[in-house]
Amino acid sequence: MILHADADAFFASVVLRRRPELADHPVAVVAHIIVASANYPARARGVRSGTLAQDAQRQCPELVLIDVPRAEVEEAGDALFDLFHESARAVEPGSMEEAFLDVGADSSAQAVAAGHELRRRAAQELGLAVSVGVGRTKLMAKLASRAAKPDGLHVIGAEQEAELRRCLPIADVWGVGTRTADRLRELSISRLGEIDAIPYETLRRHCGTTMARRLRAIRDATDDATVRPVEHRSTLSSEGAIKGYARLDWTPRQLAEICVERVCRRALRAGLVATGVTLTLRPEHGAPDRVRKRPRAEATADPAIWLRVTHDLIDQAPVPALAGLRVTLTGLIPHDRVQQTLF
Ligand SMILES: [Mg+2]
Repeated sequence: MILHADADAFFASVVLRRRPELADHPVAVVAHIIVASANYPARARGVRSGTLAQDAQRQCPELVLIDVPRAEVEEAGDALFDLFHESARAVEPGSMEEAFLDVGADSSAQAVAAGHELRRRAAQELGLAVSVGVGRTKLMAKLASRAAKPDGLHVIGAEQEAELRRCLPIADVWGVGTRTADRLRELSISRLGEIDAIPYETLRRHCGTTMARRLRAIRDATDDATVRPVEHRSTLSSEGAIKGYARLDWTPRQLAEICVERVCRRALRAGLVATGVTLTLRPEHGAPDRVRKRPRAEATADPAIWLRVTHDLIDQAPVPALAGLRVTLTGLIPHDRVQQTLF
């Protein structure tokens, strides 16, 4: 059995750890001018992530808006993954706050026990609610964690699995976007079981080889059930917004400094050094990101070195009306491996 662990309303939960008086209050965390995460009381009032902060406030006037505390969020994400690694023999990251875990469970009961223990430790040691789904394949584990929210554990057993493989709405299949769902609707398919009536060739023409194979595999119950661990992270990012909601705005150079400091500290803590940096500049109004890269012959996680490089990349050509930026350390390798190659 596979576990899918996913922190609930992650950004908002991180904020609420030190603002417990707001726990029952509608709270939204804002990145730039967009709601990045809303707690469950806010969701109950119709606040959704991805909306403009001012629209969310109109929808729910007593909504408390808080800037994303990036440093805290990134460190909470790292701590969460440390816990995942302590709890499982293999961890496949999904995002900064969710992963598939192979806990070596042969039975559903063992997987459930491991899930409860993980949830208990996340709550006690990190102050975070982590929902856990247990299923035979990754899709089932992911559907289970969705069903477990908020702050729960759900197991999809054999019976429910068979039912889902037949009746699950296509749009709820993880990885199926609105375009694929629309194309399948043209074939009168809205639920998984309905693809049985469609010849494979037709399915492939409508949604491509990869998706057609995947949907068939889900119907045959041969979909992906392997947790693929990463040996160590190959990149590590820190990002932030120029505009503050309750703080002063930063200049791009100031924000770059904050991000470089943070990402280097996290790399050092993980025992990793980088051989390159990528600076992603995010203009306002949804204009496409500008990406600038710079490799370096010698691996390091020294913030002074990477800050010089990053400032250099910013100065190359100024981007007007910058909303935010991201600093990514690339080509990460364990620090001790660098020393081995020296001798
Ligand atoms: Mg989550």
